[in-house]
Amino acid sequence: MYPPLKITFLGSGTSSGVPMIGCDCVVCTSPDKKDNRLRSSILVESPYTKLVVDTGPDFRYQMLRQKVKQLDAVLFTHPHKDHLAGLDDIKAFNYFSKKPMEIYADALTEEALRRDFYYAFSDTKYPGIPELNLNTITLEPFMVGDIPVTPVLVWHLKMPVLGFRFGKFTYITDANRVEEGEKDKIRGSEVLVLNALRKQKHISHFTLGEAIDLVQELKIPTAYFTHISHQLGLHAEIEAELPEGIHLAYDGLTLNFM
Ligand SMILES: [Zn+2]
Ligand SMILES: [Zn+2]
Repeated sequence: MYPPLKITFLGSGTSSGVPMIGCDCVVCTSPDKKDNRLRSSILVESPYTKLVVDTGPDFRYQMLRQKVKQLDAVLFTHPHKDHLAGLDDIKAFNYFSKKPMEIYADALTEEALRRDFYYAFSDTKYPGIPELNLNTITLEPFMVGDIPVTPVLVWHLKMPVLGFRFGKFTYITDANRVEEGEKDKIRGSEVLVLNALRKQKHISHFTLGEAIDLVQELKIPTAYFTHISHQLGLHAEIEAELPEGIHLAYDGLTLNFM
């Protein structure tokens, strides 16, 4: 039995966020709230467990904006800064729960966490630092509270990145290639999230066209695209161009799985 899940997009933007600092383009100055994108992350909630995937630079504001008062775990996709930078703010949850935060990362991301947040892993701890309990994961399925999680290996140019399947829902950010064997882990999902940076080719992210092709190849009925650049265009204009069942995600979007 898979628990019912609620998914909330905490952020749907690429590493610079949208608007980008200093940019006057039509997307960055758009009055449509759906064109405001914090750095990519989701909140996954079952009746008993709440976890986030990644803690980017906007993590603190995302927790405040979504009024998250309980958090049981963080799952990391890969070591890029736009997915790690906000981890220090976990300390607020430590303060209320009086226990370390459960962190799930593969060996590559663990190395970056230990480097970037060295003070949280040192023997001489001082008050006010985040308390973390690091769980090293591989491609083996694992449980977070009552939520079963299946990692999916995808490629971000030459960097291995973890996507995560939660029952009928699969979340993949920061990839431009999925190996044939891993595609089987995604097939059968009701909803797939993929990164779609922009229309023009990019070295390490799917383009809009490549993301659409993969959704159609895997025959996933509903898809949402995330990790979006201001270069993709206005939310309303791009959304209107997409094939049936395929949408752009936006900050605050929620999905429910019974
Ligand atoms: Zn990223
Ligand atoms: Zn990345």
